[in-house]
This record gives sequence, C-alpha cells and structure tokens, in this order.
Amino acid sequence: MMERVYIGLGSNLAEPLKQLRGALTALAALPQTQLLAQSSFYVSDPLGPADQPRYVNAVAALDSALEPLVLLDALQAIELSQGRERKAERWGPRTLDLDILLFGERLLNNARLTVPHYHMHARAFVLYPLAELAPELCLPDGRALSELLAACPFAGLERLPA
Ligand code: ATP
Ligand code: MG
Ligand code: MG
Repeated sequence: MMERVYIGLGSNLAEPLKQLRGALTALAALPQTQLLAQSSFYVSDPLGPADQPRYVNAVAALDSALEPLVLLDALQAIELSQGRERKAERWGPRTLDLDILLFGERLLNNARLTVPHYHMHARAFVLYPLAELAPELCLPDGRALSELLAACPFAGLERLPA
C-alpha cells in the first residue's frame, strides 16, 4: 500500500543547495517510492548552537510502499553518502538531515523513529514549506496545519526565489 510521506530536508555545510538537490534526486530514486513534489527552498536560522551557518530547508512529498524503518534506513544511507557525520553535539552543523515528518496517518514511537516528528509543530522551516505542498493538511491528532502556522511566526525564515 502506498502511503503519503513528508520528508524534511536541511543542510548548512558544503553548499547546502547542492546538498538538497542531491538529496531530492536520491529520494526520487528510492525503490517502491515516487517523489510527488518539493517545496521551495528556505533559509533559516540554526536551532541550537548559534555559531554555525544558516540552514537551507525544504520539504518533499512522497508516495511510498516502504515500511517506515526501511525508509529511515534509506534516508540515513543518503545522509551518509552525502557526508553526514554524527557528532555528540545536538543540532550541530551538518551536510544533510532527512527527517520523516509524517507517514500517512501513522503514529510511531520506537527507539529509532517517532512519527509525527516530535518537534515539527513548532518549526517554521518545516511548517511553511509543508504548507506549500499540502495547505489543507491535518496531523493525525486532528490539528490543522493552518492552526500550527498561525502559532508559528515566519520570523527568521527567508524563502528563496525558484
Ligand atoms: P531533530 O530530530 O531534533 O531534528 P536531528 O535531525 O539533528 O534532530 P539526527 O541526528 O538526524 O537528529 O537523528 C537522531 C536520531 O533520531 C536518528 O538516529 C533516528 O533514529 C531518530 N529519529 C526519531 N524519529 C525520527 C524521524 N521522524 N525522522 C528521522 N529520524 C528520527
Ligand atoms: Mg532534524
Ligand atoms: Mg535528523
């Protein structure tokens, strides 16, 4: 069964736009998966340590028949293939971050995967690009994306022209 999946992409090292374009190409090549749409690119202020470059973020919509953990494995493989290094510092700089935001209507909470993404409701760099792709979206708990947006200022975000 195909399910609609939303992926949050982020990069702030080694030519972020190039990293995101590479990641979108890799997402489009995943087995049993179609890349349906991608948002604009947004520049955002970093979470966590402030002494790092600003991020470029985007959201992609997929239809996928992969199981969630299989998709997570594939996303982590793409991160690694684009030079992601895992460091102890939380939210430190990275070449590529691929997070599963939503996986159909599923609620997942295991050692490797929490879906919906635990902090997506408060992240402007997730909500604004997501709204480009699915303005009418509701989270599995019934909250409307439009409500979340109303509570999440655009401050610190900059949409790049296409
Ligand atoms: P944040 O999750 O706050 O955005 P991060 O993306 O920097 O932080 P990572 O270092 O990329 O965190 O991932 C840490 C772990 O988070 C991964 O090893 C993965 O198992 C786990 N994880 C839990 N839920 C998700 C999810 N929805 N998407 C991606 N990874 C997840
Ligand atoms: Mg992340
Ligand atoms: Mg991540």
